[in-house]
Amino acid sequence: MFERQIVIVGGGISGLSAAYHLLKIAERKSIRLKVTLVERESWWGGKILTVTEGGFTVEGGPDNFVTVKPWALELCSELGLTERLLPTNPKARRVFILWRGKLHLLPHGFLTFSPDLKGLLETSLLSWQSKLRVALGVILPKPNWDEDVSVGKFLRYYLGTEMTERVIAPLMAGVYGGDIEQLSARMTLPTLWQIAKLHRNIAWASLVRTIRRKLSGQIQNQQTQSFFMTLKGGLSELVETLLANLKEANLLQKRSVVALMPDGETGKVAIRLDDGGEFLADVVILSTPAWAAADLLRPIDGTLADELYTIPHNHAITVSLAFERSQVQHPLNGSGFLVAPDEQDENLLLACTWTSSKYPPRAPQGKVLLRAFVNEWVDLSDDELVEEIVNALRPLLGIIGEPQKAWVFRWERAMPQYTVGHHRRIARISERMRHWRRIFLAGNYLTGIGIPDCIRAGKEAAEKALRVLG
Ligand SMILES: Cc1cc2nc3c(=O)[nH]c(=O)nc-3n(C[C@H](O)[C@H](O)[C@H](O)COP(=O)(O)OP(=O)(O)OC[C@H]3O[C@@H](n4cnc5c(N)ncnc54)[C@H](O)[C@@H]3O)c2cc1C
Repeated sequence: MFERQIVIVGGGISGLSAAYHLLKIAERKSIRLKVTLVERESWWGGKILTVTEGGFTVEGGPDNFVTVKPWALELCSELGLTERLLPTNPKARRVFILWRGKLHLLPHGFLTFSPDLKGLLETSLLSWQSKLRVALGVILPKPNWDEDVSVGKFLRYYLGTEMTERVIAPLMAGVYGGDIEQLSARMTLPTLWQIAKLHRNIAWASLVRTIRRKLSGQIQNQQTQSFFMTLKGGLSELVETLLANLKEANLLQKRSVVALMPDGETGKVAIRLDDGGEFLADVVILSTPAWAAADLLRPIDGTLADELYTIPHNHAITVSLAFERSQVQHPLNGSGFLVAPDEQDENLLLACTWTSSKYPPRAPQGKVLLRAFVNEWVDLSDDELVEEIVNALRPLLGIIGEPQKAWVFRWERAMPQYTVGHHRRIARISERMRHWRRIFLAGNYLTGIGIPDCIRAGKEAAEKALRVLG
């Protein structure tokens, strides 16, 4: 049988997953396949970027993945990485919220959307009126939501303003780097959205669901299997292991795809690289950010390109800081803190992970590693930014002196925003893609922003690509 050529554009986790699954399925089905993976940057993994220096393991982008979505764990297991998985330190699972200049404990279970009545009653984050408001949701009429509504509007209705703004807004900002008044409830809170369809009061219905899951042992399983996991060598270990499994692929780094053009007669897709290289692909998988896919598709389909290009993306900056343990007076007895929105006017902090508490092997004994998320795309040098962040953290964590080392990572247009109506936009994109039978999309802007969803998106694109080849 003759060899088929598949080109994947973008070597982030979506593209690497697509390449891995293509080769795996091809081998199983004895399909002769040539897979070419093209990556613009000088490293593989896209937003996944681990730096090791002076005994510290520093993540520039993601630092872990959730385990409730199975695709990352499954891939780690297939790649023989199970022994390399690193769960969250069980002693450091508490999360705090910075509100009115103080760190308040996030009510137990809220991080995983498995709320706990005791945690709700005890929290110092909410007034009694607000706690009552959450409970009183039971007598509110069941609203007839349109197809979609913002997270802010949706949750304020059921849980009141304090709970929405002090607890949910920082959690959502931590995941999406986005604003609850813009984010889609349907896409970003799918479980609560489903619960709201059936019940009057989502708080009570969630509590009942939590109790049922506790009784059936599901939550206990979750607690023994940390909600978040990473790898001992950092998430780049996943990237390196995937690459080691792609020996059969043609891996092109520091090369960009600059044009693609389907051939009307053969159906194949002509691909041009920035160095003048050309390919004739049977199938192309675009695993770039949405706006980069839009640039490539514009010459052949302006409507599709507009849909992709107008998905809003927020920038992200992380600042990691290394200290001696003696320089930080706070016990760092948790995973870190998120910042309530009204506090963010005061400083540049969006969140701070106490990395060496959450994942102790990330720092040498006697040292502390912190990682701050910056809440805006600031026009400051790295040194100025580090100074601002240290000054914001100093009174909160009792920091003495200056960090021994700092790492700044800036990610432009990195976080796709699933704004209200995103599901309709994705439906329009899918409809439009039916015209291009040999081009597939995979990426964090479709149906899930996190690493597990990107792995799933890459796998699904690989399966569809092979189906087209017959
Ligand atoms: C700071 C930060 C923290 C995060 N934290 C977490 C977390 O803790 N857990 C989690 O699950 N997720 C997290 N995320 C989200 C997650 O990391 C990303 O959504 C995911 O890694 C995106 O993977 P991707 O392969 O779809 O895209 P990318 O990683 O963006 O990869 C796309 C690749 O395409 C390449 N490219 C673009 N155009 C071209 C072209 N024309 N030719 C060739 N190559 C091209 C780019 O160079 C890039 O490498 C975080 C993201 C950021 C930015």
